[in-house]
Amino acid sequence: MSVYVFGHKSPDTDSVTAAIAFAELMKAKGEDYIPVMQGKLNPETETVLKRFGFAAPEIMTDAAGKKVALVDHSDLAQAPDNLTSNDVVAIVDHHKIGDVTTNQPIYFFNQPVGCTCTVLKVMYDLEGVAVAPKVAGLMLSAILSDTVNFKSPTCTPADKKAVAELAAIAGVTNTDEIFMEMLKAKSAVAGVPAMDLLHRDYKDFDMKGKKVGVGQLELATLDQVADMRDALLNAMKDQKGGERHSVLLMLTDVVKEGTDLMVVSDDPAMIEAAFGGKLANNSMWIDGMMSRKKQTIPNLQKAFGC
Ligand code: MG
Ligand code: MG
Ligand code: MG
Repeated sequence: MSVYVFGHKSPDTDSVTAAIAFAELMKAKGEDYIPVMQGKLNPETETVLKRFGFAAPEIMTDAAGKKVALVDHSDLAQAPDNLTSNDVVAIVDHHKIGDVTTNQPIYFFNQPVGCTCTVLKVMYDLEGVAVAPKVAGLMLSAILSDTVNFKSPTCTPADKKAVAELAAIAGVTNTDEIFMEMLKAKSAVAGVPAMDLLHRDYKDFDMKGKKVGVGQLELATLDQVADMRDALLNAMKDQKGGERHSVLLMLTDVVKEGTDLMVVSDDPAMIEAAFGGKLANNSMWIDGMMSRKKQTIPNLQKAFGC
């Protein structure tokens, strides 16, 4: 029976490329693993797949009746629909352990590093499987993306080592050039509907029974969204509806290394306190904030008493 490898909802480059790289590793071991994704490619991932000559994986959102491997997440909120404890046979991740459970022992590999593809490089080495050059290109792109070209606080020495080794395998000499090409693709906002921008890199989290959505847009400069603030705010209000406690949008300036945090919340004062900031026109600048996982989410969890 085939195993379908799922990244998280609102797929990012790590989610898609880790699904491909893990499926390739398992195929090399004689197993039938098929990479899929839960939504359409974002512009950054599209650029990466094209550069290294890969077709987009099939879109699949329902796990009913399937054997499933999860990469880049282990939260039910980010997992495919109708997932049961019987279905999951493997998890490869670099996040905090989520709420997915299993009924039998599984292949579980998680490390506190900057990217799932860094974990996968370690797994390839452990299994003694050579990474194909094209796959190495995908993996190093994902690491550059997740670590924001090594600038994110999530970046570890293991990520830098993996990129150096993968670049040698892929025959890539200038990784900065790859990062800039990805940044150009991902920060292109002109003509894109605000709701699509909110969902470009978006996740819902359960905070003590309250649903909180956090999106992130990585930009070369905040000027790129200057004309779109009202539209983004309206999209956040629509997204929040009555269902969510808060919706946050991180407008991250990759060059200045900080985030203008847009907030729509039932309790704005609580969000202000969580980040030690003061909202003006529904947003506040947080110097040094680059990572949703390592900075935004832990602060929110503390504020919600998780
Ligand atoms: Mg991800
Ligand atoms: Mg990741
Ligand atoms: Mg990310």
